[in-house]
Amino acid sequence: MSESRRKGLHGISNQLKDQLIQRMMERRLRRAAAGPEAAWAEAAVEDGEDAAQNIPEAHWRLALHPGYQQLRIMREGAASLRLANPYFRPHDGVAGARTSIEGREYVNFSSYNYLGLCGDARVNAAAKEAIDRYGTSVSASRLVSGERPVHRALEARLAEAYGVEDCLAFVSGHATNVSTIGYLLGPKDLVLHDALIHNSITQGITLSGAQRGVFPHNNMDALEEILRRERRRFERVLIVVEGVYSMDGDFADLPRLVELKRRYRALLMVDEAHSFGVMGRRGLGIREHFGIEGCQVDIWMGTLSKALAACGGFVAGERALIENLKFAAPGFVYSVGMPPPVAAAALAALECMLAEPERVQRLQERGREFLRLAREAGVGTGTSEGYAIVPAITGSSIRAARLSQALHQRGINVQPIVYPAVQENSARLRFFVSSQHSSEQIRSTVAVLSEELEAL
Ligand code: PMP
Repeated sequence: MSESRRKGLHGISNQLKDQLIQRMMERRLRRAAAGPEAAWAEAAVEDGEDAAQNIPEAHWRLALHPGYQQLRIMREGAASLRLANPYFRPHDGVAGARTSIEGREYVNFSSYNYLGLCGDARVNAAAKEAIDRYGTSVSASRLVSGERPVHRALEARLAEAYGVEDCLAFVSGHATNVSTIGYLLGPKDLVLHDALIHNSITQGITLSGAQRGVFPHNNMDALEEILRRERRRFERVLIVVEGVYSMDGDFADLPRLVELKRRYRALLMVDEAHSFGVMGRRGLGIREHFGIEGCQVDIWMGTLSKALAACGGFVAGERALIENLKFAAPGFVYSVGMPPPVAAAALAALECMLAEPERVQRLQERGREFLRLAREAGVGTGTSEGYAIVPAITGSSIRAARLSQALHQRGINVQPIVYPAVQENSARLRFFVSSQHSSEQIRSTVAVLSEELEAL
C-alpha cells in the first residue's frame, strides 16, 4: 500500500484499520487469483507462433504466478500494518524449551521437539557414529544399492512399537503420505477424511485420482452416514484421520473408527505425526492411549521429525502392505534412501523414549498444565486436549500476527497460523509444548499471553 493511503488511515482505531486493510487485501487477493484466464481463453482461437504473441504475460513469466502475486499482496498488507515477517527466522542452535534467534534468547513454543531428544547427547552421538561408518548419504535408492543395516534396525523397532509385522521408512513425512495414498488408491476408490486433515493427505488423494469425501471434524456419526450411503459405490474405501490434530491438539475417536472400518469393510489409516511419542503411557501413540492392538488399524503412518528428533516418515502395518510399498511406492522406489545419520538419530531417540517414559509423562503433564492455565485465563483454546499442542485462537490472521509479534518482543517465540493453513476466522497462535518446559515457563507464558490478548 502506498505511503499516502497508509497515512489516510491515521487517527482511526487499530481494529478498524485492521478490518479495512484486511478487506482491501481480500479484494486484491481475489483479483490476483482470478487472473487473465477467462478473457484469454475466449481470444485464443488460433494456433501457431503468431497467435502465441497474444498469450498474457502471466502465463509465461514466473514473477506473475498467482501464488507469488498473492504472497506479495500479503507482504504489502503486513508491511502497512507494521508487522514483522515471523517466518524463516534463523535459530542459532538446538531449539528446545529455550532457543536463541539471531543472538536473542526466547522461551520457545514453535518446535515439535516434544520429548527434548533433538540435541540429546546420545542421539547426536548415534548420528555421528553413523556418519563415520556410512558417510552422509546412501547415494542410491534403497531398492538398488542404498540399503544400510541402520534402516532395517529402525524399521524393526518401529514395527515392534506398533505390534505389527513390518515398517518402511521414507525420507520425508509429507512424501510418505503423498506416496502411500497416491500409490495404494485409484479412480474407483474413495478416501474419507476428517475436515482438519493435513495437506500431505489431500495431496496424496489428488495424486491417486480417488474420489474424496470430507466428514466434519471428529464427527463419527457423519462418517457413518457417508459410509452407509456410499460404501457399495466404490471398490476400496480408505478412512484417514490424525492421532493428535496438528493445529488443534485434540484426537480421533479410535475405538469408534476401528468399529466402523470393520463393519463397512473399509481401510483405516492413522497419521501419528503428533501422537507418537505424545500419547499413551510409554509414548506408543493413540493405540496405547485407547488400549487398541496395532493390527486393528490397516495403515499406521508417523513422522520421525517430531518426537523422534530426526527427519522422514514411516508406514507400519502388515507385511503385504510394506512389501507392496517397498517395491512400488514411487516416493520410496524412485527416491534416495534415508541418510544414515538421520536413521540412526531416529533409532536412538526411539530407544531413549522407550527407556525413559518419564519424558512422555512430563510432556503430558506440561500440556495439561498449559491448557488448564490458558482456559482459566479465558484464552480460546478450541477443542485442544492438551496433548503437546495448544492453540490460542485469535479470530483473524492479522490479530494472530500482531499477537505473535507482541509475544516475540517479550521473549516468547510462538508462530502465528494464518489462512490458508486454517480458516480465516480461526487463525491462531499454536503453542508446541515440550517435556523440557518448566512449570514456571508455562505459567509466565500464559500470563503474558493473556495480557497481550487483552491489549489487542
Ligand atoms: N502429517 C502431519 C499430521 C503433519 O503435521 C506433518 C507436518 N508437520 C506431516 C504429516 C509431514 O511430516 P514432515 O514434516 O515430517 O514431513
